[in-house]
Amino acid sequence: MKVYHDQDANLDVLKDKHLAVLGFGSQGHAHALNLKDSGMNVCVGLRKDSKSWSKAQAAGLAVKETAEAAQWADVIMVLLPDQTQKKVYEQDIAPNLKEGDTLAFAHGFNIHYQQIVPPQNVDVIMIAPKSPGHMVRRTYQSGVGTPCLIAVHQDFSGQAKEKALAWAKGIGGTRAGVIETNFKDETETDLFGEQAVLCGGSEELIKTGFEVLVEAGYPPELAYFECLHEMKLIVDLYYEGGLSFMNYSVSDTAEYGGMTRGKRVITEQTKQNMREILKEVQDGSFAREWIEENEKGQPTLKKLREEYANHLIEKVGKQLRAMMPWLKEKK
Ligand code: NDP
Ligand code: MG
Ligand code: MG
Repeated sequence: MKVYHDQDANLDVLKDKHLAVLGFGSQGHAHALNLKDSGMNVCVGLRKDSKSWSKAQAAGLAVKETAEAAQWADVIMVLLPDQTQKKVYEQDIAPNLKEGDTLAFAHGFNIHYQQIVPPQNVDVIMIAPKSPGHMVRRTYQSGVGTPCLIAVHQDFSGQAKEKALAWAKGIGGTRAGVIETNFKDETETDLFGEQAVLCGGSEELIKTGFEVLVEAGYPPELAYFECLHEMKLIVDLYYEGGLSFMNYSVSDTAEYGGMTRGKRVITEQTKQNMREILKEVQDGSFAREWIEENEKGQPTLKKLREEYANHLIEKVGKQLRAMMPWLKEKK
């Protein structure tokens, strides 16, 4: 796979252009500030009553209302929550798109599932940093940068890929390395990953282990430390050196116990379930369900949030984290 670096990207492609970053959340603040520090002409687009308005101004950025920013811009990067993008696109962006503009995203959901269908006479690209926004900002400031994916959905100008690479350079991505993909692969692997492994899978693994210990009569505090708290230490080892570095770092007892028991936790049946989850992502049925959920005002999500918040592991965790003052309380 080809990896693009600084020398493969040319900031001049964007130099004389107006760049709008819509949203000033996790990704928005990082893209806007990094581009500004890279010498680009950038402005943040927000809704009138946005809490972020003063924050963006205090950081030295120009701020306009979303529609006005879209009108001013040659390149519009949409860094709003995925479920709000369709509405904002229809109200504020589409009426202000002119021939030759570029529409950019950091995740492919709305384009891939055709929630947003841009006109033929604009470029549509993606620059997706592979880390949360605060890391995109922090690594830019420290000089190393964050790896990014880029993709071209529509190339009206013939320069779409050069623009994506230039944006990636402007936010620091090409310092670390940039890989080209397409909207379909990025969207489907992202959704599958968060459902089966990162969020859904890991959360249920943690909770189930906790429940087994507590139901067997062990103190919930011990169960919390063993099944949740220590997870970070293990994940840090994966992150630093892969699976074998984790096994190298833990005791031989843990390594042997894990290797001989792990497959009884994640079984062939679990793998089959994961394949079904992937199929729902690929055939669009998850996307349809999530779009409908949002149209109804997220009733299931709200109910589940409440249910999840009442789990014993959350109550015990709150008390135990108070013993670790370096962990700032999160709401
Ligand atoms: P956030 O939720 O952090 O930021 C949302 C921003 O949008 C805020 O500034 C908010 O401001 C504004 N906003 C919310 N609702 C509206 C609305 N209806 N109209 C106008 N502005 C609105 O988003 P993320 O940065 O997490 O995500 C942005 C994109 O980046 C998504 O496509 C996501 O998939 C992608 N992405 C996110 C990553 C991450 O780590 N978070 C990683 C890679 C990609 P206010 O509410 O004050 O108006
Ligand atoms: Mg995601
Ligand atoms: Mg142990």
